Amino acid sequence: MSFCRAQTPDVSVNGGEFVFNPEKKPCLTSEQRRDIIQTVKSSLEELQLQNNLYYSESRRGNHPLFIWPIQKASNVTFNDVWAISNYVDHNTNFPNQITDYNCGTKSYDTTSGYNHQGMDIYNWPFTWKLMDDDGVEIIAAAPGQIIYKSDGEFDRSCNFNTTTPWNAVYVQHSDGSVTMYGHMKNGSTTSKNVGDMVTEGEYLGIVGSSGVSTGPHLHFEVYEGVVNNILTGLIDPYFGSCNSMNVDSWWANQKPYVNPKINAVLTHSQPPNIFPPCPTTETTYISDDFETDDTIYPAFYLRDQTAGDNIFLEIIRPDNTTLFNNWNISVQTTASSWYYYWSLSGHFEMEGEWKWQVTFAGETVTHTFNVVNPLSVDENDFSQTSLYPNPFNTIININSKTKIKNATVVDILGKTVLHFNENSADGIKDLNLSQLSNGMYFVTLEGEENQKKTIKIIKR
Ligand SMILES: [Zn+2]
Repeated sequence: MSFCRAQTPDVSVNGGEFVFNPEKKPCLTSEQRRDIIQTVKSSLEELQLQNNLYYSESRRGNHPLFIWPIQKASNVTFNDVWAISNYVDHNTNFPNQITDYNCGTKSYDTTSGYNHQGMDIYNWPFTWKLMDDDGVEIIAAAPGQIIYKSDGEFDRSCNFNTTTPWNAVYVQHSDGSVTMYGHMKNGSTTSKNVGDMVTEGEYLGIVGSSGVSTGPHLHFEVYEGVVNNILTGLIDPYFGSCNSMNVDSWWANQKPYVNPKINAVLTHSQPPNIFPPCPTTETTYISDDFETDDTIYPAFYLRDQTAGDNIFLEIIRPDNTTLFNNWNISVQTTASSWYYYWSLSGHFEMEGEWKWQVTFAGETVTHTFNVVNPLSVDENDFSQTSLYPNPFNTIININSKTKIKNATVVDILGKTVLHFNENSADGIKDLNLSQLSNGMYFVTLEGEENQKKTIKIIKR
């Protein structure tokens, strides 16, 4: 495939579109929707009997203002982890009569008369890998009470010919409205019980592919309220001239309809494996350590690219010179998610820390990778120094051919959180980081001859 104007590298760009739910099939069968409404009704009646239903039907007020129901888990180093495939369909005719809130067609309906009732937010890139790593968390869009939840169902659905129920959490808000979070990963739903309260942003589960689904995504659906314990009045939380359901936005900060973003900038040791047979987890081949004669696959992953957008690219050598000049590409195809990669060899003759940098939609994301010459590795070589295990729990070990005299740990804001100093003959052999909270840090190790190396570490 060649669809972009590569200005400078001697090879053309590879990659393509990642299409989520290309068949545009419903996230719930009509039977499942009936079952859910019935089950939620029973659960509401049960809570009423126990006098434990916090927001009664008569209690009303302003509708909530939602925060985004998805967040990147702390162990994920990607720039972002989601894209949107479908909104609510406001056109009640069918089939193929689609109108989203913005008068576009980012939605679907079916021949049987189903018009998509929620929004679908999918993992991107490496959708199954992110699910395996618990990388994308579903959080409460507003405070409320859990009125029903379900878990224990198979979560690697690949097609729509299944009647397996989804794993989901249902939350009622102070005005009586209800948010529904579907397709969660098996075993991931909040440990809180039906009847418990949740705060805004509280963890509810992990994005998965349970129920009628073709891959990990969140189906987020909103109801205005409950009448006779039945979910009533579908809402599209977006304000827009084609929204036929509600007159204002239910988002605290409504995201733009086209919301371009660099989701990841990575280097790979082999071409990234984006489309393994479902539901196989993608082999990412992500690597940050190369030798001078290796083929390196610099790649990046976008959401919401529009034909005509420009992307500026740079590969920067350890001495801050640029590998290619005025390297940019022009987007040829509008798409919700797209990836680009090159296969480059013979360019990485200089040892040290390289930068691979992508600028798109007003944002620059820089990825660093290391290149060593295998022939020049000797006793005093510091670039081979490594830390293990990484990610770690409490103690991280140093693997180095030379003595380490200093180690400094900084957090992602650049603040020094720990410093180690050792003058004994052996130097520092390991770092006890038990007092740090979970998350990403950078350790700078300093050798006897003041050589330095910075390594990213993740505490879990
Ligand atoms: Zn859906």
